Amino acid sequence: MVLTLIEHADGEIDETSLEMLTLARDLAEQVGEDVTAAMFGGEDLAADLGEYGVDTAYVCTGDLAETYAPEARAEALGALCDDLEPAAVFGGGTDTANEVLAHLGAKRDLPMSANTTEIETDGETCEIERHRWGGSLIEHATMEGETKLFTTPDHELPIEAVGDGEAAVETLEPELSEGAWEVQVDRFEESDLEGVPLPEARIVVGGGRGVGGEEDFEQLEELADLFDNATVGATRIAVDEGWRPHNDQIGQTGQKIAPELYIAAGISGAVQHWVGAKGSENVLAINTDPEAAIMYKGDYAIVGDLHEVVPELIDAVEAA
Ligand code: FAD
Repeated sequence: MVLTLIEHADGEIDETSLEMLTLARDLAEQVGEDVTAAMFGGEDLAADLGEYGVDTAYVCTGDLAETYAPEARAEALGALCDDLEPAAVFGGGTDTANEVLAHLGAKRDLPMSANTTEIETDGETCEIERHRWGGSLIEHATMEGETKLFTTPDHELPIEAVGDGEAAVETLEPELSEGAWEVQVDRFEESDLEGVPLPEARIVVGGGRGVGGEEDFEQLEELADLFDNATVGATRIAVDEGWRPHNDQIGQTGQKIAPELYIAAGISGAVQHWVGAKGSENVLAINTDPEAAIMYKGDYAIVGDLHEVVPELIDAVEAA
């Protein structure tokens, strides 16, 4: 049996969980087993998982459903593993799924592969392909172990509806150790950030260390304000310096963008930044260093000081 951790929010099953089910089903078919689901809350959604090949969904209710406590959820999954003895446990491409499965792996000494995109098995050993460095490196590895843990990368695998029946639903309220509740999220706060969200922007003006300071980002704001549906992004260096909020960070540990145009100013183009920006249709790099990596990755490059080039761009756009 293959166990899958299904996440949900706002009355809908998380897309990354549905993507993950595609890989989980593939492994289940290879070993001739059923796909089972574990959920924390979302009882009314559980039967619909039949459409994605889930045979039975176990729904944990009570505090486990209402409070996000990673160790508690890992302990509950561990208890299910004791009962069901799955060949594998899958989670989707979210921080929470990776966190819960990492706790499960650490507590039970189980092998885990994050960002997994392909699995071939002979029933015991798994040959896997997985993304490293935000997808810029593809790793092939061999995994062994009775119960293997996998997560998938987000938005890499297709969602495939395969069944027409409903999944059987069983509710559970497992008893957990007190220590499992030590770390828990006690509140969520709405972000008060305004403006166009980075992943949805048509034009992104990104700034890096070369911008030089918080005030100097005003030039980039001014340029972005000239376009519809445009916003400002930043490299991790600019965020770490406190010049921009973390929400503006583009890259491996930030957001992924896919604008029609990405203007990258004072950015070297490190791989960890590029994995968040490579979905851009066109890239205009502005850099004093003609040898900077971004100058080769981009479609257009201006060699020059951004403090001179950006005002000229502003003038040109205003005049157009
Ligand atoms: P630099 O590499 O210092 O580049 C600055 C550039 O500005 C240079 O090319 C320079 O020639 C140019 N420049 C200087 N002055 C001017 C000027 N006046 N006009 C024009 N150009 C000028 N980074 C991210 O961005 N996002 C991430 O999500 C991310 N995640 C990471 C995760 C890990 C695990 C690690 C190890 C690193 C991560 N990083 C990330 C950091 C990444 O490796 C780089 O250090 C970072 O992207 C570099 O930022 P930068 O381009 O602003 O700075």
